[in-house]
Amino acid sequence: MSAEKIGAVIVCAGKGERTGLDYNKILYPIGHKTLLDMTLEKFAASRVTHVVIVAAERDVQAVARIANGYDFFCAITVGGETRTQSVRNGLNRLHAEFGDDFSVLLVHDGARPFVSPALIDRCIESAERYGSGIAAVKCVDTVRREALDDSVALPRNELYNVQTPQAFKAKALAEAYENAVGEYTDDAQIFELNGGKIRLVDGSYDNIKVTTAADLLKLPAEQRIGIGYDVHRLIYGRPLVLGGVAVPYEKGLLGHSDADVLIHAIMDALLSAAGLPDIGVLFPDTDDRYLGISSVSLLNDVKERVATNGFAVVDISAVIIAQKPKLAPHIENIRKNLAQLLNINASRINISATTTEGLGVVGNGDAIAVNAACILTEKAPQ
Ligand code: MG
Repeated sequence: MSAEKIGAVIVCAGKGERTGLDYNKILYPIGHKTLLDMTLEKFAASRVTHVVIVAAERDVQAVARIANGYDFFCAITVGGETRTQSVRNGLNRLHAEFGDDFSVLLVHDGARPFVSPALIDRCIESAERYGSGIAAVKCVDTVRREALDDSVALPRNELYNVQTPQAFKAKALAEAYENAVGEYTDDAQIFELNGGKIRLVDGSYDNIKVTTAADLLKLPAEQRIGIGYDVHRLIYGRPLVLGGVAVPYEKGLLGHSDADVLIHAIMDALLSAAGLPDIGVLFPDTDDRYLGISSVSLLNDVKERVATNGFAVVDISAVIIAQKPKLAPHIENIRKNLAQLLNINASRINISATTTEGLGVVGNGDAIAVNAACILTEKAPQ
């Protein structure tokens, strides 16, 4: 006798049009993973041993790549016209692929990534003891039923919002689906119509079904930190430009470009956080295209590269290390200019200045150095 077999059908065949994405929301990226990964991780940590993912035809390959590598047996099948048909396809595939000796079967919406392994297991235990285990939470809103010109408030303390997972004794669910005619919004209704008893399990208010663009913002976004450093020599006969702002001084910074040491350090911080090559690689000082170029145009290029790679700037912090000139009167201008160049709120940029108390090459007044740090986040879909 083999070990206990618990199967799950995870339904991912919806079009997800209300998210405003031009692809299925289950493929929404979260770091190097996807929304679907978030869901599958929970199942891998539960008692479920076999999974069938029901996907739209166009997503089958992407879903297969994601599902590969989780600690359960997995198959993928194509969804039907309706949810009921999709679950039926999933159950058929589960039985065809892995046999019909499951003890418990669950159905779960792929777009409920906040389900927990504990909730999945609570539903399974309930199905084992009582025949079914349906995740549900007490209604927090008052619900009214409207019919023609009448409207009736329903007694809230008797009402529940039904979620997934929904777990059932395997044979009883299979039989319910064999006998089911018509379309239903969940599996408990089909089970109930075939004489099954519904047992509710404490769900979770976090266990939302990601449906709208606003829901996507509730998903965790990966953040990346980056640091950058630069130093340039100060010489007579060059303008001093810091953060794209001309700073009146008898000396300026020497370099292949305009030698804006602040923008250089910030660009390297941004590129580092985005996992991209540094400015020495992108804009080599052996390339005449960059001779005397304003670093502002290089920053625009970097800004675009960061955005193209799916990141947005959260904040930037930089310290300018210079013995002279006094930078305090210019800091606010520099900050505002950088905010404008990067299209972020000025409160997201902090620039400070310090000296080295006369020590070293910076202390001699022969150079200016900058340390910069930034945080990037994955860009929310526009
Ligand atoms: Mg430089």
